[in-house]
Amino acid sequence: MERIPEIFGCMVFNNDAMQKYLPEDVFKSLERTIQNGEPLDRSVANGVASGMKEWAIEKGCTHYTHWFQPMTGITAEKHDSFMTIDGEGKVIMELSGSELIKGESDASSFPNGGIRATFEARGYTAWDPTSYAFIMGKTLYIPTVFCSYTGEVLDKKTPLLRSIERISTEALRLLKALGREDVSHVSTTVGAEQEYFLIDKEMYLERRDLMYTGRTLFGARPPKGQELGDHYFGAIKPRVAEFMKELDLELWKLGIYAKTEHNEVAPCQHELAPVFTTTNLATDHNQLTMEVMKNVAQRHGFVCLLHEKPFEGVSGSGKHNNWSLTTNTGENLLKPGKKPYENKQFLLFLCAALKGVHLYQDLLRISVATASNDHRLGGHEAPPAIISVFIGEDLEGVLHAIESGEEYVNAHRVRMGMGVDVLPDFKKDTTDRNRTSPFAFTGNKFEFRSLGSSLNIACPNIMINTIVADQLAEFSEIIENSEDKEKAINDIISDVYRNHKDIIFNGNNYAEEWIAEAERRGLMNLKSMPDAMAHYGDKKNVELFERNKIFTELEVQARRDIQLENYSKIIHIEALTMVDMAKKDIFPAVSHFIGDISRNVLRKRQINAGIPAKAEMKVIERLSALLDSFADFTDELEFCVKEIEGKKTDALTEAYHYCNKVLVAMEKLRAVADEMEQLTSYDYWPYPSYGRLMFTM
Ligand code: ADP
Ligand code: MG
Repeated sequence: MERIPEIFGCMVFNNDAMQKYLPEDVFKSLERTIQNGEPLDRSVANGVASGMKEWAIEKGCTHYTHWFQPMTGITAEKHDSFMTIDGEGKVIMELSGSELIKGESDASSFPNGGIRATFEARGYTAWDPTSYAFIMGKTLYIPTVFCSYTGEVLDKKTPLLRSIERISTEALRLLKALGREDVSHVSTTVGAEQEYFLIDKEMYLERRDLMYTGRTLFGARPPKGQELGDHYFGAIKPRVAEFMKELDLELWKLGIYAKTEHNEVAPCQHELAPVFTTTNLATDHNQLTMEVMKNVAQRHGFVCLLHEKPFEGVSGSGKHNNWSLTTNTGENLLKPGKKPYENKQFLLFLCAALKGVHLYQDLLRISVATASNDHRLGGHEAPPAIISVFIGEDLEGVLHAIESGEEYVNAHRVRMGMGVDVLPDFKKDTTDRNRTSPFAFTGNKFEFRSLGSSLNIACPNIMINTIVADQLAEFSEIIENSEDKEKAINDIISDVYRNHKDIIFNGNNYAEEWIAEAERRGLMNLKSMPDAMAHYGDKKNVELFERNKIFTELEVQARRDIQLENYSKIIHIEALTMVDMAKKDIFPAVSHFIGDISRNVLRKRQINAGIPAKAEMKVIERLSALLDSFADFTDELEFCVKEIEGKKTDALTEAYHYCNKVLVAMEKLRAVADEMEQLTSYDYWPYPSYGRLMFTM
């Protein structure tokens, strides 16, 4: 096997490659753009394009693509060949500066939420020089942003870049207000832990629900589930280990710092954690990781399921967005240090997050709201829909002491005067008890745990960056304009704790009592995706986005509608798939099974009319009754879907129809099917069972 340092990043046009393939002045100019966010001089683009092309062709590329992250699916790409005809009619391989910088794409095939006027179908992709180009297969991938002809954003990357710039500016401003002259740049860092399921490809192909929707729409619980906890950190099976080995290799080639892989709670569930990096890169890397996972799985006879809830009754898959801020001098701004009580800089950043999350709980919830994640939130091993923050009792003690002016008493009732080191338990407290919290402070970063496994992490990071930047700006304003800075800082911390402590919850988020307690505190409990989306355009939210130049009001509305439409479409497909499976597979199978047992009863009675065949009769009666309901519920579901199909209504009303009617009808149908599955012989049931899907790897 090749050596890791040699293969790491070998398919990335990174600093090493740039240094080798770009003229020095071009490289220096590009480096300034990447590191400090300075605008790129247009004249530099030609130099970069030609060097990039040379590098790619040497690696065997024939095509290039502008790679972007539209509002749907994972990523999009439009491949072009490097081939051009020169003035003398000869074929040459070319990539010009303008081809690198700008691409044209038919925006009408991507969701735009009504932004794009119908006569103007053009959309543009524009090179994002802050993320490295890379090679997959024989294609050079150029990371780009995607916008409409009139400049409205149509993707997830543009607002992410805006939010990164925004928080960098405001974090730096606060540091300056605190007298920190040594820092010249602040970046946000993200590490996205990714969960996924691996199942056998052959079995996958036998289930139309998995093929069309990524999750099982029917399926009775197997006799054994995850109750023994024997999968978590268990030994990795050889076939899976082979997959992981290749996955690592492929990710390393793309410069992705895949670090740990272990089994997760559910059978056949696994996790991959990368080493954190800057947010823009982390986002591209996570998108790539998901794609590479799927491709490598195929090569090993697996299918990688990124759906949040592929199986009912076992844990779903999430993604943990670990988030922090770091300076160009390498300082993590969320590191409390040994004496958090005295570390006012840290406390200010902590408070910015606390207050931001409290004021904009809905935006965090919205950023993780999808049709698939609705099945996961509030379920097994997943945070509830209520957003709260864990900071641990020791840190809360620090804030309490500052607010009340009392002496700092830590959670263990040990009195600690100013300047005394925090107890060694401090770390333990902040890391051990956060497993259930949706937004947990984990020692030197926040871990947002509500994300679904298939989500593009741009969405939550846009929100986190924006809400924190907004608070940082407010804090700076106060400190810059105050005579007594020390007092101003203390006042800010006191005020935040006094007015926003309701968002802090250090207890068990999975407990029933928390729901009632959260309601008493006035926290939002946006249970479903439409419930969450209904708040996207709230005045305070639109004002936040406009104030921070992230979205215009039009863009907020467009995004809301795109996501709601997507939600409805997904449930629509699921419902149709269910009806299809119900009519064409399940109904005939059960009827067939009943018929065969009935024939056996007749045969028995032919031998001796007195044989009662009680056992068979019981199954026949029970299954026949269930089958009758099943047929009725199939019709009911079909009716619910027809009711809304083609109806002219707004996106929210439509989504609510799918949420409150269609999903309910789906659940009813499924419940009967699952009961029938348990009474029907494996030989007749048309699909591989949960047991086979999860335990035969
Ligand atoms: P867990 O207990 O949740 O598995 P780990 O300690 O394994 O936590 O780390 C989880 C993730 O947090 C990793 O991807 C890691 O790179 C990331 N991480 C660590 N420090 C930071 C940071 N300062 N900023 C962003 N992410 C970080
Ligand atoms: Mg984690």
